[in-house]
Amino acid sequence: MGLQVQINKAYLPSGWSIKEQLADLGYSDSDLDLVLLSHLHSDHASGLPMVQNAKKFLVSEEELDAGKKDKLRYIPKMWKDVELTPFQFKDSNLGPFHRSFDLFGDKSVQMIWTPGHSEGLSSTLITGAGGKSILLASDVGYDQSSIEERKTQGISINRKWSYISSGWANQMSHSPNILRTIVNHDVNTHPEIITLS
Ligand SMILES: [Zn+2]
Repeated sequence: MGLQVQINKAYLPSGWSIKEQLADLGYSDSDLDLVLLSHLHSDHASGLPMVQNAKKFLVSEEELDAGKKDKLRYIPKMWKDVELTPFQFKDSNLGPFHRSFDLFGDKSVQMIWTPGHSEGLSSTLITGAGGKSILLASDVGYDQSSIEERKTQGISINRKWSYISSGWANQMSHSPNILRTIVNHDVNTHPEIITLS
């Protein structure tokens, strides 16, 4: 675990944990119907005990398989208290590899296969009734410049996949229908309410 801590130790000031942020909004984890995981690296899975009373946890099948097999990059005991349900990407017109999962079947929330940083890394496209979207590009980049300059991630299991995924996120970020492209580790991202039309 020593190596993983060095690689993935998250920057988490007090008040920023998922539990504290939910409490600020007047919710507890038992109010959550669904927790969507972009991937299972330790800096994204270590908070699962804080939301263990959520009703359902979804992660891509590719990521769950990798999490069970790859002892170097994953710490399975981090999700021992929750039941992870795998979802399957389907062929689609979305994403760098044309594979996505339409969560509610209405294209409002779509998980998109954007591998490279990890085997089953998902980005999330959230679309309002008027067709405007927010792209949560997860760990496809680490800050805004990684999307703008198509940098690949420091940690990558497949450099070619990483390059294709970051190129796709760059292209999407220029689409007039994408209001914002947000990546997970960007320290310049602050809590806000974004209204989609
Ligand atoms: Zn990661």
